[in-house]
Amino acid sequence: MSSINADLHCHSNVSDGTLSPEAVAERAFNNGVRLWALTDHDEVGGQRRACEAANRLGMDYLTGSEISVTYAGKTVHIVGLGFDADNEQLVKGLADTRGGRERRAHEMAEDLAKVGIHGAFEGALKYVGNPDLISRTHFARYLVEIGLCADSHEVFRRYLVEGKPGYVGHRWATLGNAVRWITQAGGVAVIAHPGRYDFTPNEEHALFTEFKALGGEGVEVVTGSHTPDEYVKYADMARAFDLLASRGSDFHDPSESHIDLGALPDLPGKLTPVWEALSHRIVRA
Ligand code: AMP
Ligand code: MN
Ligand code: MN
Ligand code: MN
Repeated sequence: MSSINADLHCHSNVSDGTLSPEAVAERAFNNGVRLWALTDHDEVGGQRRACEAANRLGMDYLTGSEISVTYAGKTVHIVGLGFDADNEQLVKGLADTRGGRERRAHEMAEDLAKVGIHGAFEGALKYVGNPDLISRTHFARYLVEIGLCADSHEVFRRYLVEGKPGYVGHRWATLGNAVRWITQAGGVAVIAHPGRYDFTPNEEHALFTEFKALGGEGVEVVTGSHTPDEYVKYADMARAFDLLASRGSDFHDPSESHIDLGALPDLPGKLTPVWEALSHRIVRA
């Protein structure tokens, strides 16, 4: 079962991806994915379309979302899988988390204007598929468009990150709320790409410990954001903390994403895949 091609982390234009939910479904299926979850940031607005498109293609589906959390002064992402996407508390919690993105975007544009980059709000907005969900990714696309950076990776080195032009600190959901919204809606909470956070080993240990205590049950081991060494490290962490293991490309766009849908290696051995624990929540084709 663990060798099934599952891709449980990716984005559509309902958040900061560029393809529609239907187009992401098709690309996933054509790449061999047989169990899929669309995990738009702080949103479940694409879930019905994604599930219907998946099932039409013959692909099993799990609901998903990637929730932005502020933990120990840093942004951490928590992926929810297999929840009831109509659950009121979850829907409201996500709406609250999205609120403030537009104001933040105006502040980001003001900060960019200070270094001579004008019109960034309007420029970013051109790339936005969901007016509720303007993100740094949309600004990155605009900065590439005007030739300021060669690609989004360069943008996130020179702009939009702490200490660089265009960065605006933001308070997202708490870890406790994010885990609660997911679990009370019948889903499993998963720490997204833990290798991406600049935590010290002590801080990382505290995150895992607190997450477990709050009812979190999973961690991404194989993701487009991890190096092969990190697959090994987080497989060990999953075993040490008795967490379910997840796998997902974090695909956003065919040219921006270096890992395509379904293209990752299998989970390492001696792990319990998160989809085994969620078999009752899978919407089968
Ligand atoms: P936001 O939620 O508005 O803070 O935007 C976060 C999004 O920016 C992430 O979901 C990624 O899509 C993108 N992002 C953040 N850091 C990087 C990076 N170093 N390289 C490429 N994309 C990034
Ligand atoms: Mn993103
Ligand atoms: Mn993320
Ligand atoms: Mn993501």
